[in-house]
Amino acid sequence: MEELLTMKERLEAVRDEIKRALRRVGRSPDEIKLMLVSKTVDAARIIEAINLGITLFGENKAQELKEKAPQLEPYGVTWHYIGHLQTNKVGDVIRYATMIHSLDRVRLAEALNRRLEREGKTMDVLIQVNTSGEASKFGVPPEEAASLLRAVSQYPALRVKGLMTIGKFSSDPENARIYFRRLRMLRDELKTLDLPNVELTELSMGMSGDFEVAIEEGATIVRIGTKIFGARPYPDQYYWPDERQTR
Ligand SMILES: *Cc1c(COP(=O)(O)O)cnc(C)c1O
Repeated sequence: MEELLTMKERLEAVRDEIKRALRRVGRSPDEIKLMLVSKTVDAARIIEAINLGITLFGENKAQELKEKAPQLEPYGVTWHYIGHLQTNKVGDVIRYATMIHSLDRVRLAEALNRRLEREGKTMDVLIQVNTSGEASKFGVPPEEAASLLRAVSQYPALRVKGLMTIGKFSSDPENARIYFRRLRMLRDELKTLDLPNVELTELSMGMSGDFEVAIEEGATIVRIGTKIFGARPYPDQYYWPDERQTR
């Protein structure tokens, strides 16, 4: 019973699985960053994770980030923003996050750039790609990624570091492999464009149910929530506000 294990035990199990997945495909441990997704998780439990050596956390809502980040300021954690971002919330996210995984439209790039320039800052971003083609999911369709990337590369305050995707949920993680592979191949293809301010070293893919497959397919950041923190009080529709049926 996973729920009966301590956070330490669950974290050790995940770290082991990450190592094994890396070894299976001959990748080295320094090629992967483990992010804990702390949406709905309170500061006390985040501190528990910090004490176990975690330094990277992901939040999905600007409001939650804005509430938690100041409380955890003394711990020096790194925040990444992984949720759908409304243009009127960019201020809160820029203030606390060092990377945004969910850049999916030109209008958002423009809003981010304007605000960043005003504050004299730059921001690392990932382009979110809808690799599974589910109508309900955010992210740019793969065939529009190149034109979005070209547009984003024109904004001097944005540094594109790579791509992000959410694998299609399935009880069998093998079913997510094609979406992760699609993201990696798209990244390789986009690299050949050789755009300014665009690096494409990061692939943010893999969650509690499918991170091992994502690592085998080249993930550099895995985003893990429930497998460490346990089940969340709300269904995921609350975070992916759409008519998503499968989660
Ligand atoms: C919630 C969330 C995760 C983590 O999901 P788990 O299945 O709990 O590991 C990862 N990425 C995004 C974008 C999320 O919203």
